[in-house]
Parts: sequence; structure tokens; C-alpha cells
Amino acid sequence: MTIWDSVPGHADVVAQLQGAARQPVHAYLLVGPPGAGARAAATAFAGALVCENGGCGECRDCVRVLSDAHPDVLRWEPEGAAISVEQVRDEIVPIAFGSPVESARRGNGGERFVYRLLLYDAKPDFKVTITGVEPTIAAGAGKEFIATATRIDGFDGDIRLEISGLPKGFSALTPLVIQAGHLVAKGTINAAADATAPSESEATSAKVTATAMIHGQTTTREVNGVGKMTLASKPKLFVEPAAPVAEVVREPITLPGMVENPAEPNTDPKNGAMTF
Ligand SMILES: [Zn+2]
Repeated sequence: MTIWDSVPGHADVVAQLQGAARQPVHAYLLVGPPGAGARAAATAFAGALVCENGGCGECRDCVRVLSDAHPDVLRWEPEGAAISVEQVRDEIVPIAFGSPVESARRGNGGERFVYRLLLYDAKPDFKVTITGVEPTIAAGAGKEFIATATRIDGFDGDIRLEISGLPKGFSALTPLVIQAGHLVAKGTINAAADATAPSESEATSAKVTATAMIHGQTTTREVNGVGKMTLASKPKLFVEPAAPVAEVVREPITLPGMVENPAEPNTDPKNGAMTF
């Protein structure tokens, strides 16, 4: 048994953390959705750091880490959506720079090791980029594009995209929504069957804006355009004469075992004969 037994189903992560525990750097981020097991992995990792045997799972250190009772393994929970700068500055940093109560080491490097902490207030925000630009669309058809969100500092809400200024005869179903927690949405720009080729200025007039609520405020961000719209000529319709069909010769065909020229047409399959 080792302390890693408490982290089932994450062999890759465990292997990485075991390596890290042998020569740790100043900080690690374990990132995953709720329930993914980040807490269990962090706890086991902490045990591996304070256990003299690298996380045996059985010694006094390991047992106390697993029961959340080790004086050198401390846990902070965020007070709101994130751990605040104040919390880090006032509570975490002084302890991180202090000496361990029991453990032989404190992170990496001993006394001459320099910690550099970069603290900043979280500024949730977003950016949207559109790919599949410069569409060439045939009249009566559509072209797909993909909107990809970059979510910044934990912003997790819906992002609505509006496309305005499309050339006459072109349309897109909006708003297009990149749903909360998602990064991608697909949209389509359609050209009407009777659309005419847009003028040079019309062709580039489309604008995309992305809007989301951040801290209760409507926040709008410009998005790169969808590029120049080009109307492709209608797909051509061809009519070709079909290849001549061989003249059907309605002559009797004789199959093996068939009675030739029976007096009466016989279609009874039981006697193995059919007349055409
Ligand atoms: Zn141990």
C-alpha cells in the first residue's frame, strides 16, 4: 500500500506527481472539474512530500495527512469564487515562508531558495475568435464557421455572438451562444438562392460582437470579422441524355427443365417452368 492508493483511476497523474515529489518545484496546479479527484491527488501529493518514504501510506506522517491533521499540510478553501489576494497575502504567504513544524524540508532548495509569488486580482473576461473566415458561399447554400472562446480568470458564463452588417441576401442565425462552461460554438452563414454578389464594401461589412454578463455587467468584446464574403456562382445543373437502353426483346427464354412452347402459359413455379 502507498498513499497513492487514495487516488484511484489517475495513473498518469499519479506517475507525474510521484516524479514531482522527488524533486518538487514551488507550486503545482491540479486542475479538473468538481469530482475529478483533484483534492485526493493534492492530499496524496502532500503526503508524499512530508513522508520520509515518499508516501508509504502507513507511517504517522501519511496517516495524519490523510486525516487532515498534519501540522505541515494546510488547506485553504476559497472564500468566494477564488482564493482572494488578501487571503494569499495575509494567510498563505507568511506560512509558506516559515519553517515546517515537523517536516525535514519545505518545498525545494532550502534557505537559499527564492520564492517569487505573482499576485493579482482575478479579472474574469473572455475573448472570441472566429475561424473558417473568408467564406465563399454558393447561392442557396451555407458555410459553417467556428467561434472559439478564450475564458480568462475563471469566467464561465454564456457568451452570445451577434453578427450584423451581412451583405444583402446573406444571413446567419443569431444570437449564436457559446454556452456556459463551453469553448466552442458552430454557426452558419447562408446565402439566399437569389442572392447577388456583394459589392466590395458590402463584402467586408459584417461585424461580430460577443456579449456576456460579468459580475452582473453586460460586457461586449469585438470579435475578429468573418472576413470577406464571396458569392460563388450557383452550382451548375447538368442534363445528360441517358445511355440508350437496349431494346427489350420479348422473345421466349428457355430455362433448363422448361417445357418449350407450352400450349398454355404456365406460371406455376412448382413445375419449374415460367413463360415470358
Ligand atoms: Zn509515509
